[in-house]
Amino acid sequence: MMSTSHTHLWIALSIDCIVHGIQSMLIAIGGHEHTQIASLWIFFSACGVAELLISFLLCTPLEHLRPLTSWPKRNSIAPDVAYALFVRTVLFPLIAYFEYSWLHTHFNGFLQAHAIPPVVLSRLLPFFAAAPIMSFVGNFAILDLADYWRHRLSHRYGWWYGIHSLHHAEEQMTFWSDDRSHILEDAITYLWLISVGLIIGVPSLQFPFLILGFRLLGSIAHSNTRISYGWLGDHIFISPRFHRTHHALRAAGRRSCNFGTALSLWDVFFQTAKFHDNTVETGDAGAERAMVNGSWAEQQQAGFRRMVRLARRGRKVPAVRTGS
Ligand SMILES: [Zn+2]
Ligand SMILES: [Zn+2]
Repeated sequence: MMSTSHTHLWIALSIDCIVHGIQSMLIAIGGHEHTQIASLWIFFSACGVAELLISFLLCTPLEHLRPLTSWPKRNSIAPDVAYALFVRTVLFPLIAYFEYSWLHTHFNGFLQAHAIPPVVLSRLLPFFAAAPIMSFVGNFAILDLADYWRHRLSHRYGWWYGIHSLHHAEEQMTFWSDDRSHILEDAITYLWLISVGLIIGVPSLQFPFLILGFRLLGSIAHSNTRISYGWLGDHIFISPRFHRTHHALRAAGRRSCNFGTALSLWDVFFQTAKFHDNTVETGDAGAERAMVNGSWAEQQQAGFRRMVRLARRGRKVPAVRTGS
């Protein structure tokens, strides 16, 4: 676990202490092999579930006290809950910590072996070295910029939109909808963010917490609520209204806008922001019903079929039917 300041060292030692405690507990109940890996897995899963709990405690009152809309018959949220738990307890520890950490070590080893100086944001911009929180915020903003372009490109290419459209097929969008995505899209997203994280030198212990920050803001952005962050807040962070515009029926596919994940300022900068929209209904009229309210496995299969169908039609995402 690398650290660049006393605060980083203190955080690393605190995490080591917690992981050591989990490890001792596992040994006490009879586990001896792979207890270090199991302890780290339990720690990061617990962080993921804690973040989900915070999202739940923040968003549930908002959706009940300040709802944007209601539905006469509620679709089952079981698949969305399954996505959220799968992401927090399997994908997040596996990729955001274990894979990133392994790649980080090997990438730095490669740079050292070839006498290539590593690119670290805080060294390039001393402003970010002033306080650990500034390095966290700087890395968060750069990863968010990278994710803006990943998301924007996913709306441009047919095969890519085919898998991304599983996220857009949601017709009853709530905070649970944030994690609804195809497993192939999850793989692309993590590869994309890991590559950028390695290039800008995000420490391996910081990367998982940056991902949790995206998940927390993403959950709030999908909430079924009419709250606003105010003019300034809405121009910095993705508000529920701003992201709902991205999920509008008429905006599915290439005609979309508001591609940001956590910060709306990238949409403002690249002129894809659309504020003051009154979108209530969400969905993608071109999606199979299995993508809308099928089980987890049916949604995954339908997403794969649509990817293949759109890939066969050519490079571009076709015009989108609306109003059905
Ligand atoms: Zn999208
Ligand atoms: Zn979304």
